[in-house]
Amino acid sequence: MAGRPPPPKLSSKRISFSHSLEEIAWIPRPRLLALRRLGIETVEDLLTHFPRRHEDRTEFPRFPREESDVSICLCGEVIKTSLRRFGGWKKIFEATLQESQANALSEPLVCRWFNLHYVQKMIMSGQRLVVFGKPRLRGKRICMDHPEFEVIENDEEISIHFRRITPIYPGTEGLSQRVLRSIIYRTLNEISREEVETVALSSLGQGTQCDAIRAIHFPETWKSRDAAREHLVLSEFFAMQMLIASRRAESSIGTGQPHSGPGLLLDKFLKTLSFELTGAQSKVIAEIEHDLAAAHPMNRLLQGDVGSGKTVVAIAAMLLVIEAGYQAVFMAPTQILAEQHYDVLRRWLEPLGVRIALRTGARQEATGSLPLFEPDSAGAALGSGLSSDAGAVVSKARTFDGAPGREKSSSSRGATFHPPEASALQSETSFGPNEPQILVGTHALLYETVPFSNLGLVVIDEQHKFGVAQRARLTARQPAPDVLVMTATPIPRTLTMTVYGDLDVSIIDEMPRNRGKIITAVRDSSKLGEVLSFLRAQLEAGRQLYVVYPLIDESEKLDVKAASAEYELWQERLHPYRCELLHGRVPAPEKQEIMERFRSAQTNALISTTVIEVGVDVPNATVMLVENAERFGLAQLHQIRGRIGRAEHNSFCILLASDQSKETSAKLAVLEKTTNGFEVAEADWELRGPGDLLGTAQSGLPALKIGNLKTDAHLMRQARAAAMSIFQTDPRLELPENQRFRRLIVEQQGRTFSNVS
Ligand code: ADP
Ligand code: MG
Repeated sequence: MAGRPPPPKLSSKRISFSHSLEEIAWIPRPRLLALRRLGIETVEDLLTHFPRRHEDRTEFPRFPREESDVSICLCGEVIKTSLRRFGGWKKIFEATLQESQANALSEPLVCRWFNLHYVQKMIMSGQRLVVFGKPRLRGKRICMDHPEFEVIENDEEISIHFRRITPIYPGTEGLSQRVLRSIIYRTLNEISREEVETVALSSLGQGTQCDAIRAIHFPETWKSRDAAREHLVLSEFFAMQMLIASRRAESSIGTGQPHSGPGLLLDKFLKTLSFELTGAQSKVIAEIEHDLAAAHPMNRLLQGDVGSGKTVVAIAAMLLVIEAGYQAVFMAPTQILAEQHYDVLRRWLEPLGVRIALRTGARQEATGSLPLFEPDSAGAALGSGLSSDAGAVVSKARTFDGAPGREKSSSSRGATFHPPEASALQSETSFGPNEPQILVGTHALLYETVPFSNLGLVVIDEQHKFGVAQRARLTARQPAPDVLVMTATPIPRTLTMTVYGDLDVSIIDEMPRNRGKIITAVRDSSKLGEVLSFLRAQLEAGRQLYVVYPLIDESEKLDVKAASAEYELWQERLHPYRCELLHGRVPAPEKQEIMERFRSAQTNALISTTVIEVGVDVPNATVMLVENAERFGLAQLHQIRGRIGRAEHNSFCILLASDQSKETSAKLAVLEKTTNGFEVAEADWELRGPGDLLGTAQSGLPALKIGNLKTDAHLMRQARAAAMSIFQTDPRLELPENQRFRRLIVEQQGRTFSNVS
């Protein structure tokens, strides 16, 4: 590049971890490009490009005389090559190998490559070759098709590549195993030991980081390879858990305020409920109350399976907060869900005199008079408990309120303001009479200035749609509000300590009593006729039905029956019962009306896409039919199924599949077997691996280079315990022995923390 001096070449022998590979003179320049394609730019990148597997080349076995299902590694001399054509332009390249010290019983091995032009250029008679693959009997010959191979060029190389347990790397084009291995080998020889810091606690594993890195690439024995791997996994996990622990410590030592009232309002609310809380709900409310009362900000995750009754818990938390004179925000992932929460809150809380407002992209409404933040009321709001900071928020709110397109509350909902009852509430309230105490909205609220002068609690429903970064926006406010995130997506427990590792976790592990069973059945789509008569019988008994499709309409051009096309069919099929169609492209106000008609049972069946996937609660709807069920993931199907089974009637979930593949049957069978979300999550993990489930982008954590969240779960527990105990005794990492961890954390996070920099 013009104007930039070439990087200094390192002539001295010592290389350090942080060096760029460009600085190492002996690495051929074209290799740098290939390495960059693998994301390898520094010495550290190179040495943490860990082997995918190792081959035992300490001794090569005799050539096989039979086929085998296990891949083996053989060494021999090329005695013949040939190129054969078949089917016109197709070519097979064959190289015949003979083992060294062949005897009368030796069988040659024929290696074959189909249509791989470059292989033919690399292999010639007389060369020695190492191959790795499965020997197969083809006619009378023992063949290996498309083996991995390496040509042995000189004896010096033998000591690096052969006669040892040899590393095999995740490769790239333009970079052979041998070249990569040689570069790593030489780098390891030239690295200065002191440069490689041992980040893990010595108690976590034996030996140093440098020894472990050396041994993972070129282990002397299998045992030392395993020990090295364990060491490296532990230090990787430890680094991750230190990051998580520092996030956690950062928020727990942040400035917060106690936000809990005495609980009179909550008691009053619980008395009005038509049901008793479950033991699990009461336990979780007590945990939350404890956090609310503490001066440091709450950061709590509430996990509870679909239908376990998380909304009531959220309401309890909000009531404690508003009783103490603060305001609460309740965020849902979809507009439908926000509207539903708003309805429930109005039904349950307006009689108690609580003021509630709704603010979604599509609609704004308040039970108090609008506009919410008139200059006067803002002035009134600048009462006792407000800092000058909060004043700035209020003035922004005024401009927000004047924004065009704001919809006045519809007359059907009534915009009349109910003054709060004379209760414990009033004496504590420090803001104006028009300001809402609870603001309900979608997650979009995060990107607005939440126009609250005295925000005490933020509840985020269905957190799995929602990442760490977004959560961080909330906690950045000073003083920080308490945060409660709720999710019905059970994730395996080992993932919880990673993805949600910086949160305190409460679990509702008990369903409300008097719930009917959910019976799940998988049916072939050809059986729709029989299914229909079952559905009609349920409708006759007064129940309601969801039919869920994977897509919005046929414009998505997949071979899937789309909801809008099928809707008319369903009207005929279910005649004279009433159906309505709901999908993401239905305009917002109409969506709301459709849901209301379904909720009030004016409509019997809702033909819908996955817009009803999360949170929707219509207890009389007890039948769920999912079309093309094979197209959904397990966790998603579990969510969808969670729409039913919400009352005392038995519920039925019918999964129609139009594909009888093994994978589909195995997947759907899980749902027939269990209605327990944790079991579904474990099975889901089993079937597709953690990638999808974890949503690594969302977790905001560094990608793992060596550890495996599933098979190394015990190491994660160990690493977590170690990291947590460090922060427990030293939340700001001030002790001299903890100084070495600072760099580790700051480097990973790419920023400093208020407590660790
Ligand atoms: P989720 O945890 O999926 O968000 P909801 O909060 O929507 O579940 O609750 C599901 C249904 O169960 C609602 O209709 C709610 O009123 C009801 N419910 C909640 N708690 C109880 C309880 N302890 N006993 C009976 N019904 C309850
Ligand atoms: Mg819910």
